[in-house]
Amino acid sequence: MSLVEKIKQLKKEKNAVILAHCYQNIEIDEVADYVGDSLYLSRCAAKTDADIIVFAGVYFMAETAKILSPNKKVLIPSKHAGCFMADTVNLKQIREFKEEHKGTPVVCYVNSSAEVKSEADICCTSANAVSVVKSLGAKEVLFVPDMHLGSYINSELKDVNVICYPGFCPTHARILPEAVLKAREEYPDAKILAHPECRQEVLKLVDFIGSTSAIIKYVKESSEKEFVIATEKGVADRLQRDCKDKKIILIEDSVICSNMKIIELEDVYNALKEDIYEVTVSDKIRTAALQSIEKMVSISG
Ligand code: SF4
Repeated sequence: MSLVEKIKQLKKEKNAVILAHCYQNIEIDEVADYVGDSLYLSRCAAKTDADIIVFAGVYFMAETAKILSPNKKVLIPSKHAGCFMADTVNLKQIREFKEEHKGTPVVCYVNSSAEVKSEADICCTSANAVSVVKSLGAKEVLFVPDMHLGSYINSELKDVNVICYPGFCPTHARILPEAVLKAREEYPDAKILAHPECRQEVLKLVDFIGSTSAIIKYVKESSEKEFVIATEKGVADRLQRDCKDKKIILIEDSVICSNMKIIELEDVYNALKEDIYEVTVSDKIRTAALQSIEKMVSISG
């Protein structure tokens, strides 16, 4: 029996569901029940009647699944799958940041730990960040942890002062304006699409700025034939697999999140077989973090 078949069999036996983020190694899709961005996946997990959720992604994503599905066992196949951006701010640091700007509402990107979410007034994703900040009607907000997404919000909402925590995603920050200019020259007919975790200087040069799901939707629905993708490689790989009639170009070969590539099919198998590694969140943190997430959902659906 192949490894894929063994995983599928175990999944049935244990009433488990496998979620795969679109930055994962593409082979994981063969066993995944759902593939998408982190919030979409957590929502899928919350709706299923599975007893076990195996989250092929990074740690904060598995934590979010646990926050939304407290009665299910949530497993992450590698305990080394962290997120550099999420790790730039911890509980102590967010408390200090709040203390420095007392009374200013805190908006927290979902790419953060459960503890950090528990200190925020509201969460946001890259898809709804602008509308979430706008909904607060505040003149000033604190934004953690991604300074590039925060700057993007500021460029869209000029009357709001977005004070950014200095975190960032090294994968997206690796993309420089020179790469966009080079791609324009090499592929003059291509549309260039970027994730808002990229630098402002990059975003100013592209044709479309959107979340992972917005980029995928744009390419799939477009009548254009060539696209340069300025986000993690997994998105470009999946687009090329799904859109055979289109040419998908990753802006630079180095746009790879190494933490997202840690998990292999073998790890997914071991996770299911041994029930490892279980992700837990204390009740106190979970309740407060859930409030921030639910507030976001009430605004953006
Ligand atoms: S791509 Fe960036 S934000 Fe996403 S998991 Fe990797 S380090 Fe974190």
